[in-house]
Amino acid sequence: MKALIIVDEQVDFCEGGSLAVNGGAEVVKKTTEFLKENARKYDLILATRDWHEPENSNGGHISDSPDYVDTWPVHCVQETPGAEYHSNLDTDFIQIHIVKGMGRPDYSGFQGVDLESGKSLDEILKTNEINELDILGIAEDHCVKATALDGLYLGYQVRVFKDLTTPVTPGSDALEEVADKGGSII
Ligand SMILES: [Zn+2]
Repeated sequence: MKALIIVDEQVDFCEGGSLAVNGGAEVVKKTTEFLKENARKYDLILATRDWHEPENSNGGHISDSPDYVDTWPVHCVQETPGAEYHSNLDTDFIQIHIVKGMGRPDYSGFQGVDLESGKSLDEILKTNEINELDILGIAEDHCVKATALDGLYLGYQVRVFKDLTTPVTPGSDALEEVADKGGSII
């Protein structure tokens, strides 16, 4: 059984957001086109969102003087417009909504939980007998990479769609590590 994980296609990670990644809005637009063509091929479609607590550093993740490596400006605060899915994403395709980063510096979707049931991503995938994961979204060199590496570590077959992701740091070779650990880069 096969699942698609859409990573952090949120307002704050796209152009005009507080932690904008170049090419973000275009990736989200292409994701919706991909879903229209390919959604029927998946047994489960999930999306993750960064979902930080307001007015605290979320475990040192958010800083007034961010280094854009380990610390970041305020972004994706729970229940604010910046934390919403970007408007280019057709959310009707999403069956499970995972949130992560509640008071913590989470990068991987596997650190997150289903907003409704509180179940972990791994638990939901196992319950649905998912063994193959396709992963896309924002940002290639952080949350996409971390989600892919955790998926491999937990024993899933993992593919990442290179054309449906974009990095914080242009020219990033982040996906090489995913390939080294056994993932496929499409
Ligand atoms: Zn964050």
